[in-house]
Amino acid sequence: MGGGQLGRMFVHAAQATGYFTAVLDPDPDSPAGRISHHHLHADYLDSDALGRLSRLADAVTTEFENVPAQALATLAGDVPVAPAADAVAIAQDRIREKAHFVRCSAASGIGCAPYAVIENADHLAAVSADLLPGILKTARMGYDGKGQQGVQTLAELAAAWEATGRVPCVLEKRLPLALECSVIVARGHDGQAVHFPPQRNLHRGGILAVTEVHEQALPPAVAARAVEAARAIADGIGYVGVLCVEFFMLEDGSLVANEMAPRPHNSGHYTMDACDVSQFDLQVRTLAGLPLVAPRQHSPAIMLNLLGDLWFAEGSDQQRDPAWAQVLAVPGTHLHLYGKTEARRGRKMGHLNITGADIASVRAAAAQAAALLGLPDSTAS
Ligand code: ADP
Ligand code: MG
Repeated sequence: MGGGQLGRMFVHAAQATGYFTAVLDPDPDSPAGRISHHHLHADYLDSDALGRLSRLADAVTTEFENVPAQALATLAGDVPVAPAADAVAIAQDRIREKAHFVRCSAASGIGCAPYAVIENADHLAAVSADLLPGILKTARMGYDGKGQQGVQTLAELAAAWEATGRVPCVLEKRLPLALECSVIVARGHDGQAVHFPPQRNLHRGGILAVTEVHEQALPPAVAARAVEAARAIADGIGYVGVLCVEFFMLEDGSLVANEMAPRPHNSGHYTMDACDVSQFDLQVRTLAGLPLVAPRQHSPAIMLNLLGDLWFAEGSDQQRDPAWAQVLAVPGTHLHLYGKTEARRGRKMGHLNITGADIASVRAAAAQAAALLGLPDSTAS
């Protein structure tokens, strides 16, 4: 379900193992639909299309968080679906997601940022000024920083909520972040789970820009706590599939859960070139009920996200290709493009994984590639 780049990379992994694939996505030009054996372009809730999909498929997964949970529930009447509609419904809704983090906090050892739910004017009136300065986030459909507004005062909060059209929101206290990281867990039907090493993530303008994964990227104690928490969060809903949990490490060294994605995640793309199994391979295995093996990272890695901005020279609206030949001349670079024909600023077009024998050479190659692409050199030190 869903035909974006995550679906495309899942389809690649499934096809590499000999599976046939079918993609349901309304866009006739979707990145995954274009390479799948079957492409049903229909609305996610179209009952004919769901019926056809359940006849074509032996199992169904999702690559897109905002596939209506109802569509997954309908499919589950006919065919195994992983992750389950309930788990996706929690991840789709920040209110339910935070409640899940709170519910798991005894088992996970960590909580989330202080927050208030705002669903009506009474909730708004009851908000404590302790949550300011804060970030108002719409409960649903937010991604890449969309649906979020910084607010300093209660008056700004009221105006910001008004501007959302009074949809359900959470107000979160703005926390002093030292760094951001995430953990990808794959959990099978039998409750067995494996995880990738935690990733350190750098965002620019609310969008993931750089992921680094090597032993210097995160304090080891923080990495261990994040893994334990992510596994508890997956266990807490009997999750089946690949789950990514994002964390903040605060300036005082404490860790809080930020959000979770019921699917492979942009911060896990390095696994395609730096690990013996990728996050997409594990998604295939969880869906097919195949054994989950603990992934082994065989190379330190840095991933640079390639947004549509790179397709435009400064101050120009003329689309051109970035200097791929020069970038690929740098040893250890692996280019992944998603087959999107039109570049738009802020649109995820691809990513560049950089691997090497040691961290210093990976850092040097990443800096070189970033310079060739016109990206700031921003690898964490
Ligand atoms: P999205 O769905 O857009 O990824 P997030 O809730 O992850 O939404 O927020 C995007 C980014 O905004 C985070 O990765 C982080 O950099 C910043 N951010 C979000 N919430 C907070 C917070 N409570 N305090 C400080 N920074 C935050
Ligand atoms: Mg996020």
